[in-house]
Amino acid sequence: MHNRITRRKKNMKCHKCSGELIEDDLTAEMDGYIFVIKGKKCISCGEEIIGEKEGQRMVQAAKKLGVWGQPLKLHRKLSKSARGTVLRIPTDIETNMKLKGTEKVAISKLGDKKILVEIE
Ligand SMILES: [Zn+2]
Repeated sequence: MHNRITRRKKNMKCHKCSGELIEDDLTAEMDGYIFVIKGKKCISCGEEIIGEKEGQRMVQAAKKLGVWGQPLKLHRKLSKSARGTVLRIPTDIETNMKLKGTEKVAISKLGDKKILVEIE
């Protein structure tokens, strides 16, 4: 995929509050799999928008993994801490998977824009 389209619509406005949208890494979760997708986020209200292309790419990845069709939820972006980049597991996933917070996980890189997190 080297035919990257230059982003011309830099000044898109948020459809909710007309705030400014910035490019950001968004995460989506399906059946315990965490997908990291390029998207846009409103700096005023936090609304997260995923481009159609990125959305489709995620759907394809999810289908390959056999998790497509599971409830899709968008969650917070990664955050920075003094010790590195942090991915917080959303509470509903925590509950659903009965995570105690002490589990070991395996993190795999799937291509340039996807990360797979497996509970070991
Ligand atoms: Zn907004």
